[in-house]
Amino acid sequence: MSHFPPLSQLQQPDAFLRRHLGPDPAEQQAMLETLGLADRDELVVQTVPPAIRLNRPLDLPPALDEEGALAKLRAHAQRNEVWTSLIGMGYHGTLTPAVILRNVLENPGWYTAYTPYQPEIAQGRLEALLNFQQMTIDLTGLELASASLLDEATAAAEAMALARRVAKARSNLFFADQNCHPQTLSVVRTRAEAFGFELVVDAVENLPSHQVFGALLQYPDTHGEIRDLRPLIDHLHGQQALACVAADLLGLLLLTPPGELGADVVFGSAQRFGVPMGYGGPHAAFFATRDEFKRAMPGRIIGVSKDARGNLALRMALQTREQHIRREKANSNICTAQVLLANIAGFYAVYHGPQGLKRIAQRVHRLTAILAEGLARKDMQRVNQHYFDTLTLEVGGSQTAIIESAKAARINLRILGRGRLGLSLDETSSAATVEQLWSIFLGADHGLSVDELDAGVLVPGIPATLARESAYLEHPVFNTHHSETEMLRYLKQLENKDLALNQSMIPLGSCTMKLNATSEMIPITWPEFAAIHPFAPLEQAQGYQAMIAELEEWLRAITGFDAICMQPNSGAQGEYAGLLAIRKYHESRGEAHRTICLIPASAHGTNPASAQMASMRVVIVECDKAGNVDLDDLKAKAAEAGAQLSCLMATYPSTHGVYEEGIREICEVIHAQGGQVYMDGANLNAQVGLARPADIGADVSHMNLHKTFCIPHGGGGPGMGPIGVRAHLAPFVANHPVIELKGPNPENGAVSAAPWGSASILPISWMYIAMMGPQLADATELAILNANYLAKRLGEAYPVLYTGRNERVAHECILDLRPLKAETGISEEDVAKRLMDYGFHAPTMSFPVPGTLMVEPTESESKHELDRFIEAMLGIRAEIAKVQAGEWPAEDNPLKRAPHTLADVVGIWERPYSIEQAVTPTAHTRAHKYWPTVNRVDNVYGDRNLFCACVPLEDYRE
Ligand SMILES: *Cc1c(COP(=O)(O)O)cnc(C)c1O
Repeated sequence: MSHFPPLSQLQQPDAFLRRHLGPDPAEQQAMLETLGLADRDELVVQTVPPAIRLNRPLDLPPALDEEGALAKLRAHAQRNEVWTSLIGMGYHGTLTPAVILRNVLENPGWYTAYTPYQPEIAQGRLEALLNFQQMTIDLTGLELASASLLDEATAAAEAMALARRVAKARSNLFFADQNCHPQTLSVVRTRAEAFGFELVVDAVENLPSHQVFGALLQYPDTHGEIRDLRPLIDHLHGQQALACVAADLLGLLLLTPPGELGADVVFGSAQRFGVPMGYGGPHAAFFATRDEFKRAMPGRIIGVSKDARGNLALRMALQTREQHIRREKANSNICTAQVLLANIAGFYAVYHGPQGLKRIAQRVHRLTAILAEGLARKDMQRVNQHYFDTLTLEVGGSQTAIIESAKAARINLRILGRGRLGLSLDETSSAATVEQLWSIFLGADHGLSVDELDAGVLVPGIPATLARESAYLEHPVFNTHHSETEMLRYLKQLENKDLALNQSMIPLGSCTMKLNATSEMIPITWPEFAAIHPFAPLEQAQGYQAMIAELEEWLRAITGFDAICMQPNSGAQGEYAGLLAIRKYHESRGEAHRTICLIPASAHGTNPASAQMASMRVVIVECDKAGNVDLDDLKAKAAEAGAQLSCLMATYPSTHGVYEEGIREICEVIHAQGGQVYMDGANLNAQVGLARPADIGADVSHMNLHKTFCIPHGGGGPGMGPIGVRAHLAPFVANHPVIELKGPNPENGAVSAAPWGSASILPISWMYIAMMGPQLADATELAILNANYLAKRLGEAYPVLYTGRNERVAHECILDLRPLKAETGISEEDVAKRLMDYGFHAPTMSFPVPGTLMVEPTESESKHELDRFIEAMLGIRAEIAKVQAGEWPAEDNPLKRAPHTLADVVGIWERPYSIEQAVTPTAHTRAHKYWPTVNRVDNVYGDRNLFCACVPLEDYRE
């Protein structure tokens, strides 16, 4: 007789679920009691409108435990074949320095941070991004750089849009060199069509015959040719048009930077600076322009400012350019970008330094020169006269034989029409690669020797007039951290400045900062996922294809849609892609005049910004006192739009954190007028397993995989924003010019550079769904429980602005600080900054309602952590009471002075409150103090004195 239970009782069907959810059953029970509820069912019944309830389990395979899911995904990965990809086209082999791989890419201190909107607790990643900007400025030869766009192709489209904003030329025509990468041309074509620009794609020789507002050139071009751009740029300037140049970052170490040639915008991919190809991404795009165009710049810019003590402090600059403030007048719809990857590229430059980078570039170029010389000696014709790392060869009738022998060597070449083949060498290429290529192109008896050619004088690949002479990366940060010990400590110092999910909860409403489980993250750096070129033949990517197909199937089951488009690499890109599908659908029915897009006043800024990019006319629908879409106003505006109504963009649950009862009716009103419903899916975390967008009435919706489906926020990216569509829209979603996708019309253009967007982070969402299965609904219920618990516990101190049925909120709630501000002068910002002293990241500030804080705890936070947050918020409320009572002066109190730093406490302390009150207001902070590294940052000063590059060391010392 044994007193151990039998095996059947020792299985753990919810092995991962228990890890993903914060509160255990006892904590859940305690929270339900606080809410006066018997069980979770009762909470859901009270909260979710019955009309939208999905009353059956999600049709997903049963949950696997962590090992089981990893084993299944491993089997997929092993079906990918890692060949040597010399395809080029903007994607190259690279070596991620191990110290960066482990301490940044694989480190939650970096990957779980949020966008640095709260700069006092984000100085580490802000410095890393400033390095990236400095690197961009140095290598492009321009004055001002942004902190990453989504990819090279969308950066090209942003350059075109910037050109239209600032060029004095009146023309509506944009020119693109036909020798740009095909995916770049496709994305630019899509964007031009949507904006209503005319686009000419032609040989650059024909540029002078057009009157344009700007032109896209590529340096080196897609075939590797390097041409002197000066005459073309001069010609463009003569027409008051802008020159936008796509450039290769590694090539810029040896080539005269386009900025010095007169280019107005220079951009490209930073992938080959240490970021794996990952079957298309994520990678950061760099983007630089002239200082005079700073207000026209798309995306985030990091700038230098000062804090309340006058010390140097970094923060995001000129935010008034962008969607969250300017909405449909914004420069771009960019929200989530590619921060983690920009950081990695910047660190790659920090670690190698200028000499190290130059050596890498020279080595790649030297190998290419040796290869080229050998081929030339054997009379192989080359298309491009000059080159950095890319050769395009005329092989005529031998094409098939060469491709076959490349296959035998597991090498991917670029296959071009008319008997041409291309190849690009990279950091991972060696002398052996060159010898292999000779054998492939010339036969095994080529008789050439790398050593012999290397010893001789070679015809230069780079024209003498375009050899780089200017210095770069002279700033100390690029000349200090070259030993691994130094680098390790630099990374750790920056990491320590920042508050990420590995320190405390980040209750940012609308952002869903949930657990990013380690098991979800592990597969992304497996070589079978990381080292695949996006344009590798499909036979080599069968594992990716199987994984993506499965993920699509699961997302269809979760959302109810008929088809998924995996291309958009952020939520905002998804909006844009979805609106384009709607536009094309209307056009296909002869209703191109449907251009009005209704958007509730409470919408996220990306909604109107995306609508504007699709040339839609934005009409705002008001919200009623309860925060819901004002149905009467909606009906009136839909009727008024009538046959011109294109669509409605609605977020569900609403950005006000409630399940609007009227959502079905809202959809019906739109459909009755022949319009389409775009559902902003950022709040899908409150629907999964309980309701489905397509069942509710949505025609298309994006899913922020970096919110609901566990891709970490990376300090402001990467993300993925695939869209789900109903069958009638499926033919109209994005396709791709290089790898044709099954389903959408082949003539549809691309919205992103890569066919499946940032494919290498899809394993994260795959793992999450595989490990949760139908129990995903539990996560949703817990997200609702946690939010309602917070709303209940905090509601007395800070009124909850909007509630739905039975006074319940959805998965987040808005705390109204306006009454307190009116009474005491303490603002939502003061509370946000004060939370830092308590060791917390602030909730979302002033979105969607100015003067409020929006709190989203997610399902992954335990009751213990929620209680700690409640303790902080109530502690702060008590502090506000003291200001209110006149105990502390209105301007000299822990709130107005927040956050507090070491600099505050080591000096003379002459404040009406104690040091302890200032920096260790709770038991937790006494035991685990997190120190903000700067005092409150002065945004106005930074924007007035815009400075967006690394500060020389001398200035730090001052
Ligand atoms: C996050 C968010 C978006 C934008 O998504 P990104 O991935 O950042 O581009 C759009 N709408 C809402 C409501 C959001 O919360």
